[in-house]
Amino acid sequence: MPTVADDSALQTSLRDEAITLLQGLLRLDTQTPPGNERLAADWIAEVLDREGIPCDIVEAAPTRATIVSRLKATNSTGRPVMLMGHTDVVTVERDKWDRDPFGGEIVDNFVYGRGALDMKGQVAANLAVFLAIKRAALPLTRDVIFCAFADEEEGGIYGAEWVWNNHRHLIDAEFAINEGGGEPITIAGVEFIGCQVAEKGSARLKLTVTGRPGHASVPLNDTAFRNLGIALERLHAWEPPTVIVPPIRVMLKNIAGVLGGEARSLIEEALAIDPPAWEPLSKLPLTDDELRSLHARTRNTVVPTMINGGSRINVIPSEIVVDVDGRTLPGEDPEAFRQAVQAVVGDAATIELVIPATGTAADVESPFYDAIRDTLARIAPDAHLMPTMSSGGTDAPLIPGVKVYGFFPFPPSDRLAIYEPLVHGHNERIHVDDLAYATRFIHDLIATFATS
Ligand SMILES: [Zn+2]
Repeated sequence: MPTVADDSALQTSLRDEAITLLQGLLRLDTQTPPGNERLAADWIAEVLDREGIPCDIVEAAPTRATIVSRLKATNSTGRPVMLMGHTDVVTVERDKWDRDPFGGEIVDNFVYGRGALDMKGQVAANLAVFLAIKRAALPLTRDVIFCAFADEEEGGIYGAEWVWNNHRHLIDAEFAINEGGGEPITIAGVEFIGCQVAEKGSARLKLTVTGRPGHASVPLNDTAFRNLGIALERLHAWEPPTVIVPPIRVMLKNIAGVLGGEARSLIEEALAIDPPAWEPLSKLPLTDDELRSLHARTRNTVVPTMINGGSRINVIPSEIVVDVDGRTLPGEDPEAFRQAVQAVVGDAATIELVIPATGTAADVESPFYDAIRDTLARIAPDAHLMPTMSSGGTDAPLIPGVKVYGFFPFPPSDRLAIYEPLVHGHNERIHVDDLAYATRFIHDLIATFATS
């Protein structure tokens, strides 16, 4: 067992290293498009090289580089565990920033830069942990893989998807820790921390309405615009059935078990019937935002977002096309979903499936999930871990053979309120204490899990 002095020395070095690595990564302009993740891959390769750790850099297209490295087990009894992330970042509007988005400056203990939260912060933490485990020469019982993908923000065709299809042996992990979960949520005064074990899929739909064309000086009854109104009204009024997928069922049972009382009765009432009832869940002690979020996680959803139709003010168009952003629960068949939406709009419109992407769900009953819970119990004894499912997407579904857990824990603080709009927003930044906390968590998780 390490002494207390050893432990604090380790914590200080993890903290300092994660901060320095994050500053270095933030100074590389990897905005996508175009990506240029090669900058980050080469930079990380140099860091690894200084420690004598080999790595592989693979490119799906020039400059779209993913870097992977591996610490081999001394006595292998299990399949690898992976620290995964991505080095591409979304674009910036420089004039809206108070600091250089690619400066890596520290101001009032916040590290500023595009990617500080999404997700160069976690990549820096992963790298600091990876180096610490190498230096400590831990007796690993499974390989530890470090992986920083290209092209997460634009869908992973040049990143996770391509690496999975072309260099699978590099990332053949059993479990991975990724971006996604880790934010504390307070429910009825009790602190929960979500571990993202599942993601909804997306199914982009094309809604087409047609009607009689003509000159706009003479009104017609059966126009495309009239049908559009009917179709959108039907879509808006649709309440898709409540479906509780396994991770959400476990989440609700965790909340019921911890809170007890009224919350438990409501959850039990909702789950007692099949299909489950939304009404009791809508009375849980949650904020409006949290309720909306739970509502979206318990059904497929459709939201029209773009429209294309008409060419001149005096011409009644014969056709209008609307893009509809559909989000499906893990396991949902995209074609069955399309048919359900078609049934909702009826004869007012035609629904086509444009790009289906399935969701994903990792097992909540797994030794890695248990290890996350045990590590959290040591670092934050008052927090309760619960599984969550994101209604957005990460690289996780693109590497379907790996059980991916989204977890980058933040300690409770009033800083949490400022973080959310910063992801993909202006003045993205992370407090050094939060980076240090998550780095320490990942270290303790991996150092224990990969040696037991
Ligand atoms: Zn991200």
